[in-house]
Amino acid sequence: MSKPLIYITRKLPQSVVEPFESNYTIEMWPEEEKPVEREVLLEKAQQADALVTMLSDQIDSEVFEQQTNLKVIANLAVGYDNIELGAAEDANVIVTNTPDVLTDTTADLTFGLLLSTARRLMEAERYVKNNDWKNWAPLLMAGQDVHHKTIGIIGMGRIGEAVAKRATGFEMELLYHNRSRKVEAEEKLGATYVGFEELLERSDFVVCLTPLTEETRGMFNKDAFERMKDTAIFVNASRGALVDEGALYEAIEQNVIAGAGLDVFQNEPISADHPLLSFDQVVATPHIGSASEETRKRMMTLCLENIQQVMNKDEAKTPVTRV
Ligand code: NAP
Repeated sequence: MSKPLIYITRKLPQSVVEPFESNYTIEMWPEEEKPVEREVLLEKAQQADALVTMLSDQIDSEVFEQQTNLKVIANLAVGYDNIELGAAEDANVIVTNTPDVLTDTTADLTFGLLLSTARRLMEAERYVKNNDWKNWAPLLMAGQDVHHKTIGIIGMGRIGEAVAKRATGFEMELLYHNRSRKVEAEEKLGATYVGFEELLERSDFVVCLTPLTEETRGMFNKDAFERMKDTAIFVNASRGALVDEGALYEAIEQNVIAGAGLDVFQNEPISADHPLLSFDQVVATPHIGSASEETRKRMMTLCLENIQQVMNKDEAKTPVTRV
């Protein structure tokens, strides 16, 4: 009997794939940096028993048309806004994601963005490397303190809590907002639950870590930025579509807020001539929240383990459930 086929939409390291090759035929899109072509994805979705997909792949109803074998889609991300869950469910295809294994790594990057923006690290580095540093000056590259300030976390989930834990080391006051209160986080971390608007008004650092849903899309709009302090720094490590980028541009341009640390954008990859990138007070990274070598490999392995579980007719380790 032929082995089940797993199609992976990006080139992954051989060391990750190898342990699964005795039980599965594994095919991969041959490029590491370029996404799979749409026609190839559609064709492989018809042939394969399982797909490993990336957040840059749109998995919509077209993918499930005419499919015959597909049983599971393992998305290499904790977010799954690139997948139409209803269409997968209608096609009887299980969807899995990669929670937990990336939590601390993403929290490190999020807090790093916050620090880099507040202390102008990128700007200061350019200054040194461009040979602009001629003299010491009392307010040279003076930024804002992070310690003892107020951080407001919107989306106090796994990553939000891990960011909050880091903030306690900086002796920050912790505010958070979710749709529902998380009493254990309040007890464990000393966090205070507040409404969205109160969080915006009181925080020195507004950190966004909610998933992208129809409810959160465009949540950070003109009104949200206007509620923030004019010294506030906005950090987004969740998904770009939560932010109205035009409103964010205006808010920074008109000194409504002080700056932003952004790992995610409405359109990725963002173009270097995007107006937001013209500001020194915007620190931008290319969606690398979970990008440490160890974590990315753990995520890849978890995808393949999820597929293995489903193919063995066991419960997936980290299935995505529709809410
Ligand atoms: P999680 O544990 O599910 O946490 C999400 C939190 O958001 C929950 O506490 C949830 O609480 C809250 N939330 C959901 N909808 C909300 C709404 N409408 N208003 C306010 N709060 C809301 O997820 P996670 O593992 O921490 O991951 C969070 C997100 O980070 C992912 O979905 C992904 O988009 C993003 N991410 C980005 C990177 C990156 O590379 N930059 C890496 C990993 C993850 P309630 O249900 O009580 O509202």
